Amino acid sequence: MLGDSCVDLGQGFPNFDPPEFVVQALRDELEGPVVGAVRTRHQYTRTAGHVTLVEALAERYEGHLGRPLDPMKEVAVTVGATNALFLAMQAALARGHGREIVALEPFFELYRSQARGLHAEFRSVPLRFDEEAHAFELDEAALAEALGPDTCALIVNTPHNPTGKAFEEWELKAIAKLVEQHPHILVISDEVYKYMIFDPPSGSPSTAKDAPKGHVHFAKLPGMWERTLTVSSAGKTFGITGWQIGWLIGPKQWMEPIQRFMPNLQFCAPTLTQRALCRVLRQAAQPFHGLESYYEWLRQDYARRRDIMVNALEAGGIKTARSQGGFFLLGDISGLSGPDGPLHESWQASLRPGEAADWTTCRALAAEIGIVSLPVSPFFGHGTAEHIRTRFARFCFAKTDATLEEAAKRLKSLR
Ligand code: PMP
Ligand code: GLN
Repeated sequence: MLGDSCVDLGQGFPNFDPPEFVVQALRDELEGPVVGAVRTRHQYTRTAGHVTLVEALAERYEGHLGRPLDPMKEVAVTVGATNALFLAMQAALARGHGREIVALEPFFELYRSQARGLHAEFRSVPLRFDEEAHAFELDEAALAEALGPDTCALIVNTPHNPTGKAFEEWELKAIAKLVEQHPHILVISDEVYKYMIFDPPSGSPSTAKDAPKGHVHFAKLPGMWERTLTVSSAGKTFGITGWQIGWLIGPKQWMEPIQRFMPNLQFCAPTLTQRALCRVLRQAAQPFHGLESYYEWLRQDYARRRDIMVNALEAGGIKTARSQGGFFLLGDISGLSGPDGPLHESWQASLRPGEAADWTTCRALAAEIGIVSLPVSPFFGHGTAEHIRTRFARFCFAKTDATLEEAAKRLKSLR
């Protein structure tokens, strides 16, 4: 048992500090020259967000979405994307047109638990696993069948947790076409990983200076603005998941009831981190380490980490599913525990009655070589075949080079 010396690739956040300009922004906010009134920096802000921050967000999204935005009425700053998702689901349910919330499977587990917490029905529609491409893709027919009069919201997540999939434009357009047939459905588009797309098609859909390369904003698709709430946050982009600044962007008719409800959930997001983020956003669009902006540096840096992780897993005999975005990779761990697999003995020793195979294999992987990963079966509903549902572990590559190198060394020992 390796205990404390485990390499943790399970947890979905960076194990390194954010760039210096981000930390400096917080220092400046606390100690430096004051922007606005000094006495207010330790007090509440406006519930739907500090005025300077909502103005900055509105300006950026105007570029990304190619339309004017009202910073006071079409933006809301939340305690992480987590609260933004909760508010969006709550708003969809409060409309009274149906009680079912649909997501594509596998899905970020929070969607199901929040929906259940709101007493909604949660339904998930499997993505199809293409064995040849070793990648998940949209199953249009399955989604078409699932959407109906009782569906009040559809959650779309690109880039995707846990698969690392960045949805192709044709897939998002197909989803848009389907929801057009159901005017009462709200689309909740979770885009927290949008600045991490690794193999973007040449030419970005937006010409804005800080546009996320290769990312398709669902709300920008024809006819979708009026019925989409875009969810995002600063946590992944700036490596500051603990700052807990998220936001919602959407049309007034959806945002007005949300802003009215917000004080029941949060009086405001933390003032210091909201104010510091205003500084961070100004800096991030500037050239960084010889590249056009911090965003481009981030994208390239994560692409590099993704490549290290892919190579490390493949060298250990773990085939990876295609990962184009975010900071997760799926590895096929099903072969590790078989009679000829390197973890067979460990696997047998740690079998628990009724447990899904991926859990046992992930435990054996931790026990045998000290690599902690996440079993993926909890990210599925029951629509996906067992051999897909229990086949993968999720590996997070938002880790230091030293951690990734150590992981590579240990994975190699599986051969
Ligand atoms: N959506 C997805 C897909 C996520 O992976 C996460 C965090 N892991 C969140 C939302 C929540 O983000 P935040 O930390 O900003 O609340
Ligand atoms: N999203 C992270 C993960 O998938 C965990 C943080 C969270 O759930 N908010 O590991």
